[in-house]
Amino acid sequence: MSRILFNHVYKQYGKDKLNVVKDFNLEIEDKEFVVFVGPSGCGKSTTLRMIAGLEDISKGEIYINNVLVNDLPPKDRDIAMVFQNYALYPNMSVYENIAFGLRLRKMPKHEIDIAVKRASRVLEIEPYLERKPKQLSGGQRQRVALGRAIVRNPEVFLMDEPLSNLDAKLRVQMRSELIRLHKQLEVTTIYVTHDQTEAMTMANRIVVMKDGIIQQVDTPEEVYNNPTNTFVASFIGSPP
Ligand code: ADP
Ligand code: MG
Repeated sequence: MSRILFNHVYKQYGKDKLNVVKDFNLEIEDKEFVVFVGPSGCGKSTTLRMIAGLEDISKGEIYINNVLVNDLPPKDRDIAMVFQNYALYPNMSVYENIAFGLRLRKMPKHEIDIAVKRASRVLEIEPYLERKPKQLSGGQRQRVALGRAIVRNPEVFLMDEPLSNLDAKLRVQMRSELIRLHKQLEVTTIYVTHDQTEAMTMANRIVVMKDGIIQQVDTPEEVYNNPTNTFVASFIGSPP
């Protein structure tokens, strides 16, 4: 069963009716780690936001677990999303930040406690649960943001350039952390980045995009060895 299916999806913004996503067709399997990669403005975030229900679909269909979700509100999709600007609530402790979404869902207190502790153990942030976000490093904050997402035990994980605010060293470290996390949790993940190295090192499959159009969908090895066109060859071949 495919987790997520795009069928001829288009997106236009505003009055000019320019398609920023054009005839997007893709099938994402259960437990895959798929990376959308392409230059800034090529429609990666828009595509991710359509899966989450944060943007309307102009034309076409998106299915999650064989259910048409075009008109399904975000809260009814079993999805968690992590952004680059992982705004944590500054006045809440790490624990409360992670627990917040579960409280909204009226989960019983003892179940929240178990879920928060499990997530923080996986992310190795147990020692910081009582701290406020400003008492944490950038990497620790990013872990808390991940904690907020995984604590809900979602079926699909969406990440939009989650590491781009971190310094280079931390970015490399968090990369392997996310790979480890994916192996451990086995959650279907779509990861958006403009960074070729991130795409090549993290993905099971890469979706290379340009001007809202998919250029190639393949394993990192295939994209690298057999690029379908000169754009893919130069984009994947040359470092940023
Ligand atoms: P990426 O994430 O690949 O950088 P985006 O999906 O953010 O690309 O944007 C794709 C295109 O859509 C860009 O040209 C961008 O300017 C435009 N765009 C994004 N969001 C909006 C919006 N809310 N209104 C109008 N245009 C938008
Ligand atoms: Mg973006």
